Amino acid sequence: MAEIQILGSAAAEGIPAIFCNCRVCCEAWKNGGKDLRLRTAYKLKDTVRVDFGPDTLTQEYRYQLHSERLKHLFITHSHEDHCVPDLLTYRMPGFSKVEEDNILNIYGNAGIIHKIQTFFWEKPYNYFNGDFGRFRLKLQELKSYKEVVLEEEDMEFLPLPADHQIGLVDELPQIFVIRDGASRALIANDTGFFRDEVWQFLEQKKFKFDLVISDCTGGIRDIERGHMSGKYVLETKARLEKMGSVTDSTKYFINHFSHNGHATHAELEEFYNPHGIQVAYDGLTISY
Ligand SMILES: [Zn+2]
Ligand SMILES: [Zn+2]
Ligand SMILES: [Zn+2]
Repeated sequence: MAEIQILGSAAAEGIPAIFCNCRVCCEAWKNGGKDLRLRTAYKLKDTVRVDFGPDTLTQEYRYQLHSERLKHLFITHSHEDHCVPDLLTYRMPGFSKVEEDNILNIYGNAGIIHKIQTFFWEKPYNYFNGDFGRFRLKLQELKSYKEVVLEEEDMEFLPLPADHQIGLVDELPQIFVIRDGASRALIANDTGFFRDEVWQFLEQKKFKFDLVISDCTGGIRDIERGHMSGKYVLETKARLEKMGSVTDSTKYFINHFSHNGHATHAELEEFYNPHGIQVAYDGLTISY
């Protein structure tokens, strides 16, 4: 059995969103609990996580992450709710005590590598010095359809191109097919309805997913491109079912919610639960 913990379940602004007094945010202030959402990230093991957003330090304390144990960090894309390099600089001697052989591998597309390197270079004093070794960091570029095997974890990460708008020309956001031991998951946030090439690939591979986490940024609205929600979430599930990748035994969740999705946690459940879809929330641990 594999496990994944939802460290955050919101889109960029969080819920309640700062400065916002929309109905969903007001409800979230009132209800608390599952309606309070930090920015999306996942823990797969002490040593393996996905995304490193602006709430990383809060998540560290709340879920006792002990980042000194983190070995493999996969980042979906460079948007500021998923990739904030600031905290990485504190792996420098003088800020933290990091053993010589404690290497943090960071995997991401070319845009993420560029963002992290640029961030280090632009620091006012030159502590990057072209050497990530000082930080015990190792950057590894992810190419879509080319899997990364973590032998010591008995895991594989297969990045697929997302349908998600981004400013940088050289960046293609990615979703991940993950094998953890004998279990297989699809983490697919920050994507619209999958690209044709991704559908073709999935149809050819015929993965059996034990867990799917689908984008649902638009809540109960119908959004198809860039993010997805409403009937496009249902269509995605139906198509995965048709090809046999999702069955009755698959745990199917939605995540990455915006307050602009017009729905509280309870309203999301009311809409999606009848379709066999569960609504993620901060702190939830899923066994699959
Ligand atoms: Zn996002
Ligand atoms: Zn709001
Ligand atoms: Zn994004």
